[in-house]
Amino acid sequence: MIDADIFAKDQKYYLPVFDRYKIVLDHGDGPYVYDINGKKYLDFLAGIAVNVLGHNYPPLVMAIRNQAGKMIHCSNLYYTQPQVEAASRLSHLSKMNKVFFGNSGAEANEGAIKLARKYAHMTDKDKSLIICANHSFHGRTIATLTATGQPKYHQGFGPLPDGFVHVDYNNISQLETIINDKTCAVMLEAIQGEGGIHVPDKDYLQKVRALCNKYNVLLIFDEIQCGMGRTGTFFAFEQFGIKADIVTLAKGLAGGVPIGAFITNDKIARAFHPGDHGTTFGGNPLACAAANVVLDAMENGGLMENAANMGKYLIERLQTLKEKYPSLIKQVRGKGLMVGAELNKPGKKIVDECLEKNVIINCTAGNVLRFVPPLIIKKQHIDSLILVLDKVLAEHV
Ligand SMILES: *Cc1c(COP(=O)(O)O)cnc(C)c1O
Repeated sequence: MIDADIFAKDQKYYLPVFDRYKIVLDHGDGPYVYDINGKKYLDFLAGIAVNVLGHNYPPLVMAIRNQAGKMIHCSNLYYTQPQVEAASRLSHLSKMNKVFFGNSGAEANEGAIKLARKYAHMTDKDKSLIICANHSFHGRTIATLTATGQPKYHQGFGPLPDGFVHVDYNNISQLETIINDKTCAVMLEAIQGEGGIHVPDKDYLQKVRALCNKYNVLLIFDEIQCGMGRTGTFFAFEQFGIKADIVTLAKGLAGGVPIGAFITNDKIARAFHPGDHGTTFGGNPLACAAANVVLDAMENGGLMENAANMGKYLIERLQTLKEKYPSLIKQVRGKGLMVGAELNKPGKKIVDECLEKNVIINCTAGNVLRFVPPLIIKKQHIDSLILVLDKVLAEHV
């Protein structure tokens, strides 16, 4: 089949919710992907912060093959070795010790919201308000899109559930005026992703933590995009010297195999009893076998150190582009390999032109070029990206 046939078939049969780039991807290798015509692209998007080990990473492929040959799925009515191993590895990395596996980020956040509500209701059945941030992104289910602080994701889907409010991110006084002892939880990304790569001030999250303690409110960190070592530590919130009550993961956790997780401590976990939550697919042996390879690489493979070092270099190189094109690039920001370059104009054309020149990036929040590459990238890959970006930007001044 040639590209045009695939585009036509997709248009005929696939729900039109994605505004896709006009390439048909076929396979990948490390930080590269190839389309069906054999054209090679440098991948600085990694399936939206998912392929943390790059593409076709041999130990991951082998683990998936082996597990598929033994058993793919058996339901959560039984114990499996891959699941309990993934839970214990995740506990070790997160320093929290109760894990639940689902299939996606939205599902992880749904579980976190349910747990927070159940926990708060044990002491006060009116303690149910969940405070989220403007420009956040938490998923596409009815509850998580309500938690998402971007009206464009709400439109047309009402009535939305009660009990969610939004405050400006990085604005402690707004939170201070709303939070009280009827608040159930505060739910935040430690670095906002979809909303445009927003890094909060050093003391903001610490003050959020203090307010949550004061009013006995749970602090939920959505680390679905910023977690999994991407910012140089396993969770991004660790860099603010604070602890979470519940934290959610998904995207990179199994290197591309669908998975989600929420993690909490014993005290909060006691709010849940058999039957309070569940899943058919979540945490099946295939997904957990994949997660174990990723978690092993996190612990022993130097992935986080590489993310921190390469992130510094990427930001440095983008800063020099900003100096060269001050009329185009407004600000470069991020941590580790979660980096944004805010433009003074929409980013779509620049993304398209990079793609023509064999580099995959994307644009979020309309005008923020987003760089969330595999955590295995090297300097030479960043140099190639910068070379292409420089050429593309030069055409836009
Ligand atoms: C991607 C993302 C989600 C949603 O994950 P899905 O797997 O698409 O449901 C939630 N929160 C954040 C911060 C994300 O980046």
